[in-house]
Amino acid sequence: FLHGRHALVTGATSGIGLAIAQALAAAGARVAINGFGLPAQVEQALALASGPGGAARHFDADLADAAQIERMMAALEDDGPLDIVVNNAGIQHAVPLERMPAEKWDAVLAINLGAAFHTMRHALPGMGARGFGRVINIASVHGLVGSRDKAPYVASKHGLVGLSKAVALEYAAAGAREGGGITVNCICPGWVETPLIEPQIEARRGGGSREDGVRALLAEKQPSLRMSLPSDIASLALWLCRPEAHNVTGAAFAMDGGWTAQ
Ligand code: NAD
Repeated sequence: FLHGRHALVTGATSGIGLAIAQALAAAGARVAINGFGLPAQVEQALALASGPGGAARHFDADLADAAQIERMMAALEDDGPLDIVVNNAGIQHAVPLERMPAEKWDAVLAINLGAAFHTMRHALPGMGARGFGRVINIASVHGLVGSRDKAPYVASKHGLVGLSKAVALEYAAAGAREGGGITVNCICPGWVETPLIEPQIEARRGGGSREDGVRALLAEKQPSLRMSLPSDIASLALWLCRPEAHNVTGAAFAMDGGWTAQ
């Protein structure tokens, strides 16, 4: 159902972003990926993000740098207007406030929140003019509730949920139902099995196995006691791109094993 659609997924060389890129490509979209990685990792991501819609392309823009984002967006639009933007790239730094380096605050806010502003500012006018657009911002449970030792991360993700609501309202009436509409939504995962959370698993091993670390991490906050897989998040992202999701906008979907129900 995404045949003829052009998609950008940021932070798609790993984890959740890679799974979303793969799902969009399998549904027929032509996908551009962004993110860091060694050449072999990028090659593998490009192969997974290629499908019936065409070969994937990679952009190595550092999303902490607005000028690099602008260049990436301009190059992408030269290659055909964007129909789908998934702002997924994100970083984490978990230490108490008094030990949080100011540079980490700047980096987390720039990558997790600022980058979404820049990509949306660039892509949404064209979506509005054409009457179809899907923006999916990968926030977190930390866009809905707080946790200690994650001040910049929690601030950035709450900011992303708010930013998405504001932009959703601006574009809510820009597309007709038949055209599919313009929607801007957040997905708010709890723990997902990706490299991002390995340091937090490691910190809870207490001399035991990795499995002990995973169990301890889940027991703190995620009542299902199960991790999500990147492909679980990707299937919700894919659904948000469907025509019948035209009236789902400004929403923030928790996929968190009950974390935010507590
Ligand atoms: P990951 O570490 O596996 O992937 C992060 C991706 O972002 C990589 O492709 C990396 O290269 C890219 N990236 C990092 N800094 C970048 C920069 N400056 N410029 C461009 N790309 C950059 O992480 P993940 O777990 O897949 O996380 C993806 C998103 O999901 C993040 O926004 C994260 O906050 C969010 N999230 C993850 C979890 C989880 O439990 N894993 C839970 C909630 C939300």
